[in-house]
Amino acid sequence: METFKPMEIPYLEPRPDFWRVRPAEIEELCRSVRKGRSEVIARTPAGRPVYAVFYGDFREAPPQTNWSAGSSSTTWRSYVGDAPADTQTVMFCAGIHGAEAESVAAAVNLIQLLETGKDFRGRTDPELLALIAKYRLIILPCVNMDGRALSPDHLRQATFEDFRAASQGRWKDGSLIGWRGSKEHFPLPLERVAYPGGYPNSAGVNIMHDAAPGDVRSAEARAVLSLVARWRVDLLLNGHSCEYAPSLIAPSECNYPRNVERGLSCVEKVNAAFAEAGLRAPSTAKPKPGRGVNLNTLATLSSGALALTLECSVSYDRPKDPTRAYSFDELMEPNFILLRVMLRDGLERPFVDRSDF
Ligand SMILES: [Zn+2]
Repeated sequence: METFKPMEIPYLEPRPDFWRVRPAEIEELCRSVRKGRSEVIARTPAGRPVYAVFYGDFREAPPQTNWSAGSSSTTWRSYVGDAPADTQTVMFCAGIHGAEAESVAAAVNLIQLLETGKDFRGRTDPELLALIAKYRLIILPCVNMDGRALSPDHLRQATFEDFRAASQGRWKDGSLIGWRGSKEHFPLPLERVAYPGGYPNSAGVNIMHDAAPGDVRSAEARAVLSLVARWRVDLLLNGHSCEYAPSLIAPSECNYPRNVERGLSCVEKVNAAFAEAGLRAPSTAKPKPGRGVNLNTLATLSSGALALTLECSVSYDRPKDPTRAYSFDELMEPNFILLRVMLRDGLERPFVDRSDF
């Protein structure tokens, strides 16, 4: 395995105290969990622990069948088994791309809120806590701990060049690997890079695209998928970040039509809530399904789940308009808005209706 030095961007301001996104801080918090239960679900190629934190009743026996067989069997109940009736299971998964710290910061603050009643800013959120209490929640505060360990604490007000380098890295000739360029290889050929970025794990695997069913490479992706299957996850929220304003991304057309329809309606509601909060311009166009195949696709195949990707913003339009840079609070906020809107919505209509399979 190649080893690389963490990237430092000297002109970035120090993070605020509540932005606890370093692997040691994430581990310490997960080890301190008492109201929930934390579990190491995988080890990264560099040996770091990947944690899941559970809130709610997770005591039922494993499914007697898998979703593939169960959804074709005499009854859907063969997969659902004795899981608590009327309690949907939500997984909030952050840091699959380690450079993208916004959802990691939010997940860490969410765990602290659930544990102590206040997040690391000292804020409480009775509405969100009441909503969460109506579900089972699994929080994965940082799936790609290796990528996180290499990455700056944040990329707020980084130049576009530095944002790209921190995210997808540089080749040995100094050129940027790039967002699309990073996907031309799987895994990334580490012997050819000067810096791999925080996107892949330390074996060069982009966990979000570790989604070839016969060839899932990373322990991290396998652990996420086996948790989805084991606990019959109904909704997977997959937290990422990009250089644009925050948005919930339309589901892929590679899915059950009912999930696509449900996902598109969630996208409209969540993006409208981001606009209402002043975090983005209102959307005028109706969202359309994309074509991507990724870990969300495999999550659906593992439990029938509705799986959606959030893109937070790392550095909104900074080159054009520095006055518009988000505060650190605003960088995290899309995660909390997403959870509030989705958890409210799921009480009106289940995320997944398995009853007619
Ligand atoms: Zn990402």
